[in-house]
Amino acid sequence: AIKTTSLLRFSSVTSISRSISTLILAEHDGGAIKSQSISAVEAAKSVDKQTSISLLLAGSGPSLQQAAAHAASCHPSISQVLVADSDKFTHPLAETWARLVQLVQQKGEYSHIITASNSFGKNILPRAAALLDVSPITDVIAISSSNQFVRPIYAGNALCTVRYSGSNPCMLSVRSTSFAVSVDLKSNEAPISQVDLSTFDEDFVGKSRYINHTAQVTERPDLGNAQVVITGGRALKSAENFKMIEKLAEKLGAAVGATRAAVDAGFVPNDLQVGQTGKIVAPKLYMAFGVSGAIQHLAGIRDSKVIVAVNKDADAPIFQVADYGLVGDLFEVIPELLEKLPEK
Ligand code: FAD
Repeated sequence: AIKTTSLLRFSSVTSISRSISTLILAEHDGGAIKSQSISAVEAAKSVDKQTSISLLLAGSGPSLQQAAAHAASCHPSISQVLVADSDKFTHPLAETWARLVQLVQQKGEYSHIITASNSFGKNILPRAAALLDVSPITDVIAISSSNQFVRPIYAGNALCTVRYSGSNPCMLSVRSTSFAVSVDLKSNEAPISQVDLSTFDEDFVGKSRYINHTAQVTERPDLGNAQVVITGGRALKSAENFKMIEKLAEKLGAAVGATRAAVDAGFVPNDLQVGQTGKIVAPKLYMAFGVSGAIQHLAGIRDSKVIVAVNKDADAPIFQVADYGLVGDLFEVIPELLEKLPEK
């Protein structure tokens, strides 16, 4: 009897080698799929070029239907769009979503479940993984095979290769900055099907309750995807002074970022925080004003193409990673830049 049990265990351990099909947990807003979710589709292609990719969307009403239509057309590798349309999903509560993933997995038996490593994905993935009794692999930046992944550790100072040997599904969150979209994004007509929610057990969902949602309305690019990011640190000294960073960002069509010290001091809200416990960015140009360059901050900017730093301390660690450095007082440098740069 003991031998039979261990054989059964062994067969479940190797079940990942079955044919590969991927479920993407996708986020939508204003009737469109968010770009980080489209990067998750790119990651699925790295798991296996031939994988069938189902995109799961949840919500209610016309904006969901619009997002489903966008999902069906936005990426040529999407095989189908699964839509869970119910007022249970009007607000994206992680517990409700996790239960939905469990329900869909029972019917679909996907080998891989992938989501973006952003607030949406980080909130849902561990809960869904717990319900499905698997260990998720988070923050994946490279995929070497269907069960081998690379993720940063020690605040990005080392890369760790992880081999997944658990049972299906293999659950991943991926950094969108590492999976750039490389295809024409308007060339598909994937079928859209509704998820059967008749067995969705609401009592199961439990304790969370939606209260409200506040978002900053801004015309600036999204920090996670911006081509240019202008970041201010503690040296800005106040929320009032931080407006200089915002003005500079406006002139350069850039997103605004901040260090944790600037966020903790209340200069800007915490959704602007860049770093290990904030957003990971990979712009073409990253400009840091009055930022010391702590490892936790650098963990969020390592993939930037060009880093420019302005700091009055010539020994500040930020200069070790900067491509261009200026030792100077930001209260002199920024006004001069603002004066010299043309209006947008
Ligand atoms: P400081 O380190 O105080 O640096 C200010 C810099 O401004 C100095 O180098 C100074 O020389 C320069 N300066 C001062 N005045 C001027 C001036 N007039 N002109 C030009 N330069 C000037 N930090 C993050 O940013 N993101 C994270 O995600 C993050 N996660 C963390 C997670 C953990 C678990 C921990 C422990 C810390 C984390 N931190 C994070 C905090 C991090 O360790 C640093 O404390 C923080 O990044 C420092 O922010 P700063 O560079 O703005 O401030």
